[in-house]
Amino acid sequence: MRAFIVVDYTHDFVAEDGRLTCGERGQQIEDRITQLTNQFFDSDDFVVMAVDVHDENDHHHPESNLFPPHNIRGTKGRKLYGKLGEFYGEAIKKEYGNLLWMDKTRYSAFVGTDLELKLRERSINEIHLAGVCTDICVLHTAVDAFNKGFKVVIHSDAVQSFNETGHDWALTHFKLTLGAKVVEKGVEV
Ligand code: ZN
Repeated sequence: MRAFIVVDYTHDFVAEDGRLTCGERGQQIEDRITQLTNQFFDSDDFVVMAVDVHDENDHHHPESNLFPPHNIRGTKGRKLYGKLGEFYGEAIKKEYGNLLWMDKTRYSAFVGTDLELKLRERSINEIHLAGVCTDICVLHTAVDAFNKGFKVVIHSDAVQSFNETGHDWALTHFKLTLGAKVVEKGVEV
């Protein structure tokens, strides 16, 4: 069984005026992320939107000294970006039970959430990842998935980061250190 997890593809991380944006690099993967989400959803795979949430002025949070405030609860910064947002808005109305919104407060979608329980309940052993940033939240989610014994597949045409160096490094790390399959247009690279 498979799960498709879209990490942090939100206004703040992708839009031109997002508060911690990957900018154009993030916007370039909009079509592919939406297409993949659609495909997995149509195949009755488990689809998860893992979305950062922070509280204003949370000075105890480990990210507070590292990044500007982003994905603040109740703001448009947390809305899914562009076509993915449109797709999600329609798909969630169908209530198939295989589409889930999951708030997360750390880089990894496994930390402080019941993601692992949701996956185990569905006997899922293979996790497909897309979203941003390749070398931050996607990476930390992949590391946890690796440690928990899940097979990991990274869609290299549906992940992005602030810069090419970090993005490229992470793609190599997925392959050589986490034993992940890295695929582009669905084909292993
Ligand atoms: Zn964050």
